[in-house]
Amino acid sequence: MADWVLAKPDIVRRAWEAGIVIPAFNVPFLPMLEPVVQAVVDQDAFALIETARIEWQKFECYGPAAVAEAFARFAVPGYVRLHLDHVPVIDEDDLEVDFLPIIRRAIELGYDSVMVDGSKLELDENIAATRAAVELAHEAGIPCEAELGAILREGAGPLPPYEELFESGMGFTDVDQAEHFVKETGCDWLSVAVGNLHGAVSKAAKDLKKTEALLDLDRLGELREATGVPLVLHGGSGVPGAYILAGVQRGIAKINVATEIRQAFEEGLRTGGGLEAGKNAVYERTLTLLKDDFRVAGLRQVLEAPSKSELGTNPDLRSHPELWGSL
Ligand SMILES: [Zn+2]
Repeated sequence: MADWVLAKPDIVRRAWEAGIVIPAFNVPFLPMLEPVVQAVVDQDAFALIETARIEWQKFECYGPAAVAEAFARFAVPGYVRLHLDHVPVIDEDDLEVDFLPIIRRAIELGYDSVMVDGSKLELDENIAATRAAVELAHEAGIPCEAELGAILREGAGPLPPYEELFESGMGFTDVDQAEHFVKETGCDWLSVAVGNLHGAVSKAAKDLKKTEALLDLDRLGELREATGVPLVLHGGSGVPGAYILAGVQRGIAKINVATEIRQAFEEGLRTGGGLEAGKNAVYERTLTLLKDDFRVAGLRQVLEAPSKSELGTNPDLRSHPELWGSL
């Protein structure tokens, strides 16, 4: 079982074909990694552990090497993989980032997939930057995620009321642009803006409860049709479960969760129970997300089922006709 899951180079595409979502948990503090993995294993689910540049700059996960080291220590093969989240071309403070060496280093460290974020660039520049990152990833035989559209970040400046933002569709990923972008870049997964918000990282706002966000489900359906690749939902914290499940039906196959489990960890620490209390809080929150919000408890075996193109190539398929019969 584990071998079969591990042998799939693109587990998110596999989830997309099967109509389920792979949660991707950010670990801005290294001790969060162990309880996340434990919850995933206990729920017989599958998830990604991920780290973003902004997290090793603003929190305490130190960098891709430290996260990879913690992952090597606590990961249970067949249940989790390691993903490099946002490496921006232009960062949150509007500074240019030498992004390719960061991605190259992560690949050397053994990351199973990477992301490049050129969403602050003009379309043509985003295409060029993304294409360069995709080339690096594909040379190493791993998938590359990219972002198109403007996913606003809470606490990064004054925003109009959320309802107004959503109604206006400001920054939402354009369907025609997305089709062009995926064709030109060859990216494997596309992070889209459809009403979702990135969580706050600023000192002033990072402890506030995240705004409840809606998703433009029609737009998601159109993006799925136009791009033909798995869609990624960033800012999963604060999106009601019903919307998430409806989004998964419209092509979302990876959902990033950062704020909810980070705040659980920090609140746990504040109770006075120390690191154990923080880790327990992360475990409980992750468990609930897997079970109730994403409904992926017990679904790891679905990823074992083959896609159409693989039928007949693996003798193990015969033992799971119920899983591949409907594909
Ligand atoms: Zn993101």
